[in-house]
Amino acid sequence: MSAFPNIHCDDLVIGSGPAGLTTAILLAKSRRKVLLVERGAAVGGGLRGFSRAGVHFDTGFHFTGSIRPGELFPFLLRQLAVDQRVKLIAGDDSCTHRFVFSSAGNAEIHVPAGIEATIELWSSYFPKEAEAIRWYFTTLKTIASKTMGMQPDEPLVEYGRLDEDYVSLKEVLDTKFHDPVLKGAASVFAMCHGTPPAKVPFGVHARVSYGLHQSNGVVEGGGSALADALLEEALQCGVEIITGCAVESFQRLEQNIATEATLSNGRVVTFQRCVMTQHPFQILQLMHPFKLHKAFTERVEMLEPTSGYFAGFGIVQGDAPVPGFSHSIHSLFPDTDFDKMMDASWQGDGPLVLIEVPAGHGSVAPSVSALELSFAHEVKAWEATSLWKRPKEYHAYKKARLTRVAQRLKEMVPYSDRMKWVDSASLLTFRDYLQSPEGSAYGVMQKIGQYGLFGRLPIRNLYAAGQSAFVPGVMGSMLSGFFVVRQMIGKELFDSHFWKSGKG
Ligand SMILES: Cc1cc2nc3c(=O)[nH]c(=O)nc-3n(C[C@H](O)[C@H](O)[C@H](O)COP(=O)(O)OP(=O)(O)OC[C@H]3O[C@@H](n4cnc5c(N)ncnc54)[C@H](O)[C@@H]3O)c2cc1C
Repeated sequence: MSAFPNIHCDDLVIGSGPAGLTTAILLAKSRRKVLLVERGAAVGGGLRGFSRAGVHFDTGFHFTGSIRPGELFPFLLRQLAVDQRVKLIAGDDSCTHRFVFSSAGNAEIHVPAGIEATIELWSSYFPKEAEAIRWYFTTLKTIASKTMGMQPDEPLVEYGRLDEDYVSLKEVLDTKFHDPVLKGAASVFAMCHGTPPAKVPFGVHARVSYGLHQSNGVVEGGGSALADALLEEALQCGVEIITGCAVESFQRLEQNIATEATLSNGRVVTFQRCVMTQHPFQILQLMHPFKLHKAFTERVEMLEPTSGYFAGFGIVQGDAPVPGFSHSIHSLFPDTDFDKMMDASWQGDGPLVLIEVPAGHGSVAPSVSALELSFAHEVKAWEATSLWKRPKEYHAYKKARLTRVAQRLKEMVPYSDRMKWVDSASLLTFRDYLQSPEGSAYGVMQKIGQYGLFGRLPIRNLYAAGQSAFVPGVMGSMLSGFFVVRQMIGKELFDSHFWKSGKG
């Protein structure tokens, strides 16, 4: 029994990533007494970065789509009242992403900001497929317009699943496109939801890709700056926050409803409702004491974690190395077939993404983060080890992999000889720092007919939000928080408090 008195709250929110912070702020603004509990030492989940030699590096938030005024990301920030504290920096509109396909003679495809601009540019690359290109991008737009929450400044309209949620991206691309480079280019943003084209519903792919085709950019000061702004707002709204402490179990089950949780520091929390924003496997573990339907348990157990990334973090010595540095995301793909490259059996070099970050705003020098797709089996030998206690073979693996990444970058950027690598992270690093099983980047794969946990769970006062709930990535995690709060407080109250229009 704890020596300390119980903590009482209306709503307990587990996890302080973008989903947990969004949920806690909205509930507190609805006059609920909210307790936010975070296992990690600091608030922010995947938003938190780290510093080396005076340079800030992001871990789980390098860029986002829909970042320009009037688009979804600034709209969500305004709903949370943090828009004045967060500065958004859009990438180079003429080329937000640069894709290079080495298997196709280093074919280079650029992605400008905006659907119309992309239709025009890609039609000039593939003139014979111009009609299909227009169809593809118009369909992305239609899917976004029929998805609840993806239209800023419009009232929330509930849609069910769409026809496009029952057909795979691969089926669509194979039916519509011929050129393998075009199919590859249209598949690239599968890297931003983690489910390969043959498995992902076209609808899910469209929801992620639409925003990235609208625009791309970063938060000034990185994910940590966004986490700080959300934290400040949460505190101002009266959210009570406990960090460095996990919710370990639920008890006091009455009529299959939990009203108490025990924390890892021994304290007991009593609550009316609880929102869980962790990985679905961790949610299932916490729900263990309840009488759950076998069908529900099996549904969650069948979910598959997405792949993740090996990351190299480097400082560029000297001034910003090339004109336009930091305005585009550069990606190198050894093949055009993402089903092959996103399969754990892929033997070659993985897709490699390079994000450039300028100096300033907390960093004394320009820097880069290089993310290479990675699978759990690559670090399986050390899966039982924990941070700071890994054997020398593991460190040798990281060193060799970073050397190879550095070599590959020579093909991509002209300043690679001015790079000083200061750190690297494997799937195990992400697993242990971000508390994500296997170090998966986007929670669970959203395969056709299979979705993560979202909203009210079979136990009446428990809810699930987070990146596995709705759309993967930071913006999707935040959106899931809005939807869960709407379910909890009711549509009328939600609509009278939130989702207010006005130019973002
Ligand atoms: C290498 C990498 C790069 C990425 N790049 C991008 C990017 O550029 N753009 C983008 O949009 N997305 C990116 N992502 C994905 C992004 O990080 C996630 O979508 C986002 O962080 C998910 O937010 P969340 O709130 O759902 O979960 P999280 O941010 O994972 O937060 C969940 C929190 O719950 C806490 N927790 C878990 N269990 C407990 C417990 N029992 N008690 C208390 N707390 C608990 C965890 O410590 C964690 O802080 C990347 C991910 C990775 C790994």
